[in-house]
Amino acid sequence: MAKLSKKKFKELNDELSLKRNNVWEEAKPVQRKEIMALGDKYKTFLDQAKTERMAVQAIKKAARRKGFRQLKPGATGKRFYLEFKGKLIALAVLGRRPLDNGMRLLGAHIDAPRLDLKMHPLYEEQELVYLKTHYYGGIKKYQWLARPLAIHGVVVTAEGKKVEVHLGDGPDDPVFSVLDLLPHLSRRSQGQKKLNEAVEAERMNLLLGTLPLDAGEAAGKVKLAILQELNKRFGIKENDLISAELELVPAGAARDVGLDRSMVGGYGQDDRASAFGALEAILDVKDPAVTSVALFFDKEEIGSEGATSAQSRFVEHLTALLLQAAGQEADYLSISRTLAASQMLSADVNAAYDPDYPEVHEKRNAAYLGYGVCLTKYTGHGGKYAASDADAEYVAWLRGVWDKAKVIWQAAGMGKIDEGGGGTIAKHLAVYGMDIIDVGPPMLSMHSPFEISHKADIYSSVQAYLAFYQAPPMKGGNRGVL
Ligand code: MN
Ligand code: MN
Repeated sequence: MAKLSKKKFKELNDELSLKRNNVWEEAKPVQRKEIMALGDKYKTFLDQAKTERMAVQAIKKAARRKGFRQLKPGATGKRFYLEFKGKLIALAVLGRRPLDNGMRLLGAHIDAPRLDLKMHPLYEEQELVYLKTHYYGGIKKYQWLARPLAIHGVVVTAEGKKVEVHLGDGPDDPVFSVLDLLPHLSRRSQGQKKLNEAVEAERMNLLLGTLPLDAGEAAGKVKLAILQELNKRFGIKENDLISAELELVPAGAARDVGLDRSMVGGYGQDDRASAFGALEAILDVKDPAVTSVALFFDKEEIGSEGATSAQSRFVEHLTALLLQAAGQEADYLSISRTLAASQMLSADVNAAYDPDYPEVHEKRNAAYLGYGVCLTKYTGHGGKYAASDADAEYVAWLRGVWDKAKVIWQAAGMGKIDEGGGGTIAKHLAVYGMDIIDVGPPMLSMHSPFEISHKADIYSSVQAYLAFYQAPPMKGGNRGVL
């Protein structure tokens, strides 16, 4: 065989080899402006959606502004929302095609790792008053010490009065903090322990106040002063904290990161980055062929357990109501047929390659910051345990959709096989027989109080989600008999 010239080699290489594209480099000037503007919008969303309840409110408000109305029996129209227990919400736009030919669903989660409160949280020690916490989801405990925290949530009294609490994010609000030990004295008690044992959950208590009541030698006079203040502000008593959901989250707004402002830093981007993308996409959907749905789930970070999670029956109920709204039968067979014929993206973030820790990544199959929304064919750990594994037919269809829409995207797994792993909501929806795959922006410092995303990847995810909604019906979709 004749030796290939450099030119021929390049031609052959361009034709046959896979090329990764940097979103910013490929973007036209007008798109670069759009990327930056979207970044600002995204930061605003993060600030409004610091808890799952706040996220539901922000999503509902945005949807109502765009003409979405509450989905209920007998509802008419095309654009609906369905909210459940204030922690789970779905938006839907009815398509032209019969619903039982399948829907297009995006599913993100709006819960994020945080500190919750225990049922009896309030106590006084050495005239310092604290709240006892219980962490929620996968946190590295040391990251939550010695930083400003805000409190968001609800307290519900036995009389049924619901009090909203938002403290620490207003411009004049005080903030709160879980203390850490000074380095001078922590050599043994922390320094000689393993990282994940150095901070004990029972020491993660939130400092709430120090000023006593004018009560001489009386014990508990600071705690009583705090209770008096809580009563004055919110009309609650100590036992009302038993029926409360107060969440401690990093205080402060999401910020631009980097001298070039290319990134967004802030709390809760897993998975409010994808929630934002899904929201932007569905608000933009107009008269789709296939019914478009965006689902915003709670409780993903603790394994999708419970009434407001992806394992709940919510999706079946939603499908039944949508079938009715579309004037179709809503019996069991129609619901199961609709779901089995559907395509879904589990909109969730992936770990971006971190050059300081190359040993945990497999660089040929890692996601890279700035290289667009990331498709993850399968999740799970070890030998694909607890995985959701999308089939080749579906992945192929999706590639075609994005290539046609000129979306810049990448395919990646998460980390080295033996290093760890994780799951998403995908496996809980896959049981309906629908096509489902994970698609979301890559993230640095994931699960930390200050996660970092790339504005171009947020932009790419909105494009990818919108292209998914607007793609024509999948040929040979529902590759079974359901
Ligand atoms: Mn997630
Ligand atoms: Mn997560």
